[in-house]
Amino acid sequence: MRIKIVSVGEPVLRDAARPLPPEEIGGQRIRDLIEHMRETLADAPGVGLAAPQIGESLQLAIVEDKAEYQARLTTEELVERERWPIPFHVLINPEIELLSPPELTFFEGCLSLPGFMAMVPRARKVRVRAFNEAGELKEIVAEGWYARILQHEIDHLKGTMYIDRMWSRSFSSLENYTRHWRSRSDTELAKEFRPSAPILNEQPWKKE
Ligand code: ZN
Repeated sequence: MRIKIVSVGEPVLRDAARPLPPEEIGGQRIRDLIEHMRETLADAPGVGLAAPQIGESLQLAIVEDKAEYQARLTTEELVERERWPIPFHVLINPEIELLSPPELTFFEGCLSLPGFMAMVPRARKVRVRAFNEAGELKEIVAEGWYARILQHEIDHLKGTMYIDRMWSRSFSSLENYTRHWRSRSDTELAKEFRPSAPILNEQPWKKE
């Protein structure tokens, strides 16, 4: 069953989501919710979906970056973004640590802001500790695009969206991104869009 994805302005996207108690993980309601989220994400399509995006204020997100989504990018773009296929998995009550400074900047989008993109600085490397759908605690050390996806989805569970972290001058419709910015070099994009003042919500990070 596909569920409607709520868009920016819906209050649930700005709430801190409720952690799932251990006794709820693995229960029928959460199993069904994960299945519905998986179908919704594949239908969108997208590479990550957080429960608040379907109106559920729960610390639950899913990630899947399929090889077929990457076929739309050139080899050069994939290498630059350090993007490779990531199998489907579930994150429950995740905790994230940035293992490098949030300064690697690419255009990203969000299913709750359809039709738009912006340049968002993110850490290249993160460590995430989260429970899976079976209630097992897992540790993930992720790099490149996968690290970006994790930062984006875990932000959703705290009521944060990419527009809070973006280089605001780069905010662009998908159409204009493709027309004007997609083929520009990092140097050109930074020259055009890098803010002169620091972005307000700086994030702590520590070297591994
Ligand atoms: Zn999003």
